[in-house]
Amino acid sequence: MRCIGKGAESARMFCGIMNLPRHPQNSQSTTTFYCRQQEKPVNTVWQKLFVKPLMKMMEKGTLLLLLMVAGRSVVFLRRMALVTVTSVDTGKVIDVEVFSKHCICPNKTKHLQNCKRNFEGYSGKMEVAGALSIFQRSQSLYNVRYTKYLGDGDSKAFTSIVENKVYGDHCSVEKLECIGHVMKRMGTRLRRLKTKMRRQKLSDGKPLCGRNRLTEAEIDRLQAYYGLAIRRNLSSVKDMQQAIWAIFLHKLSTDEKPQHGFCPSDSDTWCKFKKAELLGETYHHKNSLPVDVVEAMRPVFRDLANPELLKKCLHGGTQNPNESVNNVIWSRVPKKTFVQLEVLSLGTYDAVSSFNMGNVSKLEILRKVCIEPGDYTVQAMECLDKQRLLRAKYYCLQKTKEVRKEKRLKRKKEDDELLKNADDLEYGAGMF
Ligand SMILES: [Zn+2]
Ligand SMILES: [Zn+2]
Repeated sequence: MRCIGKGAESARMFCGIMNLPRHPQNSQSTTTFYCRQQEKPVNTVWQKLFVKPLMKMMEKGTLLLLLMVAGRSVVFLRRMALVTVTSVDTGKVIDVEVFSKHCICPNKTKHLQNCKRNFEGYSGKMEVAGALSIFQRSQSLYNVRYTKYLGDGDSKAFTSIVENKVYGDHCSVEKLECIGHVMKRMGTRLRRLKTKMRRQKLSDGKPLCGRNRLTEAEIDRLQAYYGLAIRRNLSSVKDMQQAIWAIFLHKLSTDEKPQHGFCPSDSDTWCKFKKAELLGETYHHKNSLPVDVVEAMRPVFRDLANPELLKKCLHGGTQNPNESVNNVIWSRVPKKTFVQLEVLSLGTYDAVSSFNMGNVSKLEILRKVCIEPGDYTVQAMECLDKQRLLRAKYYCLQKTKEVRKEKRLKRKKEDDELLKNADDLEYGAGMF
């Protein structure tokens, strides 16, 4: 039932419809009993299957990049928290910590001896404590040290790992930035600048935003170029920096003074001037911004081209794989309902083993509890894995389609806005 994300009530419904007998005891305790029986095997199978690929990776000497998600999405209803560590190289989950503050003790000041919670304190501390204990047990569990940390920019978990010196005085953990998050900073900073300077006039007598100035569409474009500048120059911080300032100069360029020297000159470049040059055509500048507008953005560019920041992006990884493991977990343990710790960990371990090894991992788990899986079980699990693979492929295709559709929509919106602005201008002119 947990594998399909259902609880005791659904189990009773299922048994009823199938004309199966109800367990003599009340159904609540039956579920708990089975959970307790199952949790251990699931846990051991998952860890056993995990140590091997991890060791292989270490033998090959590959960099063990670790990705950590301890975001808000993992703390659900502020009572339970999940912290997962994923290897960036393989995209597989290496370790999980499950915390729950939820209990059904009648007296909340004097908890029963067999209370189900395994965490006390503020909800916000759960993810920090989870991350810390995962790092602390890495050596005893796998005999490795996690030396790179990739997570959210404002993660408290990382600070606590550093402060606690998990690997002693001589081994430090390095923080890396998720490129997706860094890229979004360009948009955030520019939008903030736009709001801040809303009432101010630049030296050419006009405000920062408006038609042919810093528009929302322009901000999106700059953010995309910034992302490309990082992604396409993963080999050197210097190249990244140069590519970022190229955007700045590109926006300053006019027909009289083109400054595209540093713009990318490959065939799929975003710079239309370079593209025209490659095709042997002449290009007229239509999208360049006024000097005052570009100069107002200089501090943003200076901060975001900081080598200290860019150094943390050289790995080229993003946080996305971890978000999909969360989805697998949510399909087992629905976010909306409270569950006891046992159910939560059972769901999590089952989800993680399916995520890492596919549904066939369930066969191993069944064997662990001394149930030899039948032919239909084996067939079903293999079939489900095949379907999963197909779906993943389809999703990838779908995603590219969606991106194209989104671009088209955005272009349409820009056009509409331009038209609207033009109308306003005409109307305004007619008033005088
Ligand atoms: Zn309790
Ligand atoms: Zn250019």
